[in-house]
Amino acid sequence: MPEAIPESLQQKIEERLRYYQDLGIRLFYRDRVGQESSSAENWPAAVEDMSSSIAQQLTPAPAKINVTTPSRTEAAERAMPVITPPGASLFDEMDKVKDDTLPKILEDIGECTRCKLHKGRNKLVFGDGSGKARLVFVGEGPGADEDAQGLPFVGRAGKLLTQMIEAMGLQRKDVYICNVVKCRPPENRTPEPDEVQTCSPFLLRQIDVINPKVIVCLGAVAAKTLLQTNRGVSQYRGEWQEWRGRRLIATYHPAYLLRNPNAKGEVWRDLQKVMAELRLQPRKKS
Ligand code: SF4
Repeated sequence: MPEAIPESLQQKIEERLRYYQDLGIRLFYRDRVGQESSSAENWPAAVEDMSSSIAQQLTPAPAKINVTTPSRTEAAERAMPVITPPGASLFDEMDKVKDDTLPKILEDIGECTRCKLHKGRNKLVFGDGSGKARLVFVGEGPGADEDAQGLPFVGRAGKLLTQMIEAMGLQRKDVYICNVVKCRPPENRTPEPDEVQTCSPFLLRQIDVINPKVIVCLGAVAAKTLLQTNRGVSQYRGEWQEWRGRRLIATYHPAYLLRNPNAKGEVWRDLQKVMAELRLQPRKKS
């Protein structure tokens, strides 16, 4: 007779499975517990082992960056530094990809308490814009204005982003804007790795549902999260990357531009590349 699982452990397993179910994961391929442990005393270690195995599968392998010599031609530009898409991960295998929707993701997030950022949250900031956008902007996390309104990029930095979008010949409703973490970090600090790791699967689902042609990462947190790299964003800012079958470019966060207005020209050059990719015409000055 197999020994009964202690109740506390059972709860832990149920919580863990609910968490992965929320992320859309319903299939597990390994039965490490069954293979490696048959005694109740060994269950905690075995469950931790299983959890870390799943976490490893959820976390894409560090991306390889192949640096090539920049060129002025478009063909050469496409061959510029490429972040190799991570290998098959459990996330890629999820059956949710077929039927996922933005409302479903929002429902799965619910009144989220999965990471400590929920403690200071006023309103969760899911995202805003067109669910069929060809262009998605990804920022870091909500600030005070966003937390109060439940909308991304509505403060001073948000107004600057809106101006940038309009200068590209678009309106906010034409694009989709979201963040790596959905709840405001205290004092607007940078989200911590565990918060990013916990929340970012929802971002990946959002991007997969919207299926944009181009993703613009606003700042280091967004770029490092999506590209799974620790390289400083200045090393690849403005260079096209291939990301899960889409084109991705990283540029400075509008909040950085508020502090460093001289960098606006660099960001505008990055956005002009996006405009060329999407065949957009800049807004005519009135
Ligand atoms: S930041 Fe994300 S994971 Fe953390 S509580 Fe908010 S929604 Fe949940």
